Amino acid sequence: MTNPLYDALFAPHEGKSTPFLHLGDGKTVSHLVFLQDVARMANALVSLGVAPGDRVAVHVNKSPQALVLYAACVKAGAVFLPLNTAYTPRELDYFVGDSGAKLFVCDPSEETDLQGIAADVGATLKTLGTDGQGTLPDIAAAQQPRFDTVPRARDDLAALLYTSGTTGRSKGAMLTQENLLSNAEALIDSWQFTSKDVLLHALPIFHSHGLFVATNVMLLAGGAMIFLPKFDVETVLARLPEATTMMGVPTFYTRLLDEPRFSRGLTAHMRLFISGSAPLLAETHQRFEERTGHRILERYGMTETSMNTSNPYDGERRAGTVGFPLPGIEVKVCDAETGAEMPTGEIGVLWVRGPNVFKGYWKMPEKTAEELREDGFFITGDLSLIDDRGYVHIVGRGKDLIISGGYNIYPKEIEVFLDALPGIKESAVIGAPHPDFGESVVAILVPEDGATIDMAAVEEAVRRDLAGFKRPRHIEIKDELPRNTMGKVQKNQLRDEFAGAFEPVPN
Ligand code: ATP
Ligand code: MG
Repeated sequence: MTNPLYDALFAPHEGKSTPFLHLGDGKTVSHLVFLQDVARMANALVSLGVAPGDRVAVHVNKSPQALVLYAACVKAGAVFLPLNTAYTPRELDYFVGDSGAKLFVCDPSEETDLQGIAADVGATLKTLGTDGQGTLPDIAAAQQPRFDTVPRARDDLAALLYTSGTTGRSKGAMLTQENLLSNAEALIDSWQFTSKDVLLHALPIFHSHGLFVATNVMLLAGGAMIFLPKFDVETVLARLPEATTMMGVPTFYTRLLDEPRFSRGLTAHMRLFISGSAPLLAETHQRFEERTGHRILERYGMTETSMNTSNPYDGERRAGTVGFPLPGIEVKVCDAETGAEMPTGEIGVLWVRGPNVFKGYWKMPEKTAEELREDGFFITGDLSLIDDRGYVHIVGRGKDLIISGGYNIYPKEIEVFLDALPGIKESAVIGAPHPDFGESVVAILVPEDGATIDMAAVEEAVRRDLAGFKRPRHIEIKDELPRNTMGKVQKNQLRDEFAGAFEPVPN
């Protein structure tokens, strides 16, 4: 028996002195050195009692050693469970306990705070620093760079990845070797990555985007990564000349565009810029193209399914769409109530089927049964439509749909309208409880830098151009929208904040 994920992603590079990670100041980690560290780390995992199928919870800052730990889990047949670096001890308690992790790896600075949590849930606590120091590397250093890769079946779990928690409590998505491998293969095919590519990697590695989309794809292609600890405009500008491609969330691109030095000259050598994890505004698309001559390739995915769709590499990259399903993946838009397939151009819920679709939610059999159908389709909860050219449009999340006086209102439609008005940089539209209509529309507007929003003009435009039931009845201005680390607008937070917007005034 083999270990398909290790055999495809890592084994082909064993013994090769080709560069894998470019760290800056001329420092590079070769595939050879990386994989020797991986074998030592896999030995360390086994010496700590980690058996195939055991979860290894990881709450460390981004570093080459954190990637070594990911690869070592694959090699030792363990289930890698990366956790958002922003999580506090109280939040970590839930994830480590819920997953029943055998080993919990944290940053050395957190060791004292997390000892109690690890002891409570019966996990062994070890540390791993960004400088390569800590109790886990100490154990690894004492080991031989040889380890017999643990065999795994394609259907065995490779990772347990918790969703971002944008719409409710984070759920653990069980991802198999097959899920991750098939997706990396489909993406290489679609985006034409080769061993000549150098990817500018400024994403976190606790999320599907930075770990599976970016890292797995580059490993499978045999290319290298400019591996940055975080997104920092200065560093990205300095390192872009070494890159051929970049993957990012929309906020990376808007922040680059805010910088006048981000120019055509700096990007002329680049092959591809990719965006995902949150919607890319049409305006960003256009400004990026005007400034650099490149059209960003937008794609769409989620924790449960990795990547689902992508705009074409060759062919029209259409703003406001997420393109076509990747090879081997089927999508359809269905009625939320009846499940009947919607006609072209009509909005429903997106369903996805393919080798990318996860095995189910960890310890949530009922939720799994609701969303993962017996015919293999996963009900994503994303509202979408497929246009007459086959492009998928993500219209918003099912949970964000506003129902006012019996009408369905899609926030994105109103946001696109508001964003186009003068002086408005961006907007968020939510529903708030309303005594007569059930819910009514609240709009939060962010002014363009240095501009003031003319509220009278906004109200007039809204009255003139939007049907009565869609009109925001409460409009507020804010300096910025609340976003998580992946750039997703936290509408739950806004809904809490504006829950009382239409409360009847007490007598
Ligand atoms: P939770 O499921 O816990 O509420 P989440 O859905 O935000 O959190 P992720 O799996 O990180 O957690 O995000 C996937 C979601 O991100 C998708 O379901 C979709 O709503 C959104 N998304 C990803 N890429 C795009 C895109 N290009 N355009 C629009 N939305 C996107
Ligand atoms: Mg989700």
